[in-house]
Amino acid sequence: MTNYHTHSCYCDGKATPREMVEFAVAHGFSELGFTGHCPLPFENSYSITDYEGYCNEIRALKSEYADRIKILLGLEMDYVPGMLEDFTPLIEQGGLEYTIGSVHLIPAPSTSHLAPLTADDLWMIDGSRYQTYDEGLMKHFGGDIRRGVKAYFHNENAMLERNRPTVVGHPDKIVMHNRDRYFHEDEPWYRDLALETIHLIHELGLICEINTRGIYKGRHADYYPGKWLIQEMKTLCIPVIVSTDAHAPEDLLRTEGAYEYLREIGYPEVLQTLPV
Ligand SMILES: [Zn+2]
Ligand SMILES: [Zn+2]
Repeated sequence: MTNYHTHSCYCDGKATPREMVEFAVAHGFSELGFTGHCPLPFENSYSITDYEGYCNEIRALKSEYADRIKILLGLEMDYVPGMLEDFTPLIEQGGLEYTIGSVHLIPAPSTSHLAPLTADDLWMIDGSRYQTYDEGLMKHFGGDIRRGVKAYFHNENAMLERNRPTVVGHPDKIVMHNRDRYFHEDEPWYRDLALETIHLIHELGLICEINTRGIYKGRHADYYPGKWLIQEMKTLCIPVIVSTDAHAPEDLLRTEGAYEYLREIGYPEVLQTLPV
């Protein structure tokens, strides 16, 4: 077993990196990659504040556990136009071995060319409360879901093109708090946007994760990306890796049938280890 999307108490995880490693070793994992939420230039409850401490601790665990498990130092990078567009400085500063590229925060179009962005200018599409999603959509996009979703995929595509992350993080997470209320995934305008991103992942030759967290948190009935997108990815032979997006030790085991599903549909390229 392996997992390359792992959080800890350095960001919004519930356990220390050591506790995550101990659990992984006890359950026979061969590799564990840490990807805390990258530092952001505003106060919030989920991203890393002590970046140096995080990198040093993961590196120390890497040497300490070298004979039992391979540990990798990574980061789940947020792409925020006007705030955090280039991943290189954090990669170099931390000496990272890989990145997961994700979009969780979307600037309102009206604010993106004015003064420096603050947390108030961002639509947060993740987190545990769907009310935050609803409020942000109303505040920043006047409740216009198509504009909001378009901005999401536009940012996702810009992030992929500019930074080419090692792994594409949950590319359709915008559906999570939608809960089939504002739109359905089979609407042509939505399908077109999501498929454009999948085709871009293919063109850029990137690895995409199959993220299981929505299922075991009871927030979404499907993987990110959803099964209909995985079918398209299968025809394009996009390499995939199963991610639990673990925030606590026991999450590491929550693969939610992803390997079995991929085998069942004959998915051609399921990576067991990250080529880094
Ligand atoms: Zn994420
Ligand atoms: Zn994550």
